[in-house]
Amino acid sequence: MSIKQNLQNIKSSLPEHVTLVAVSKTKPVSDLMEAYHAGQRIFGENKIQEMVEKHDTMPKDIEWHMIGHVQSNKVKYMASFVRLIHGVDNLKLLKEINKQAIKHHRVIDCLLQIKIASEDSKFGMTPREASEIIKSETFSELKNIKIVGLMGMASFTNDENQVKKEFKYLKDTFENLKHISTDNYQLNTISMGMSGDYQLAINCGSTMVRVGSSIFGVRSYH
Ligand SMILES: *Cc1c(COP(=O)(O)O)cnc(C)c1O
Repeated sequence: MSIKQNLQNIKSSLPEHVTLVAVSKTKPVSDLMEAYHAGQRIFGENKIQEMVEKHDTMPKDIEWHMIGHVQSNKVKYMASFVRLIHGVDNLKLLKEINKQAIKHHRVIDCLLQIKIASEDSKFGMTPREASEIIKSETFSELKNIKIVGLMGMASFTNDENQVKKEFKYLKDTFENLKHISTDNYQLNTISMGMSGDYQLAINCGSTMVRVGSSIFGVRSYH
């Protein structure tokens, strides 16, 4: 099936309150443009360099989301345009994003990545670490970032109960952390769910799904 058809199928299955991030990493601009012409405006990339190159050549009404792990020294390359950074998992990174946002007179929206998977390889912080950051003096002084939600990646497994448990854990964490609200902190987004599990994620409370291969086909890395 074509990218356009894949997109239409997925979109028609999403409830209205759920935002679709089309994960286009490793895919050529021509594929992204096909999605663009089918109406898609939100794209997710996991490498800053690749996202910058695509941003430079593509229409400017696209919202670019950084969904991968972010190295502090590369924040500067995307600070002028990135719309949402999903994978923020430490205060040092928040400080760097704030610093670069100031240079561009912007406020950059971020999600805190919570470690929900039982696997060791996934990035993210514990709910306690998140809550400590939010309550810290340092964080309260960061006026050019805004934490708008949480992000999580479930374990890579076929065990649906395990994945469900992890999604529920993120939803519970969201509920526990959302009663606080300040100038730079107001939770409204739960980013969870990918091609294999986005329906389950939505059932567990996701408001933003990151779908790649179900739209663009399998990725080949070389
Ligand atoms: C690649 C990626 C996705 C999309 O994965 P698919 O299984 O292709 O839908 C979602 N989230 C993150 C963080 C990714 O790196």
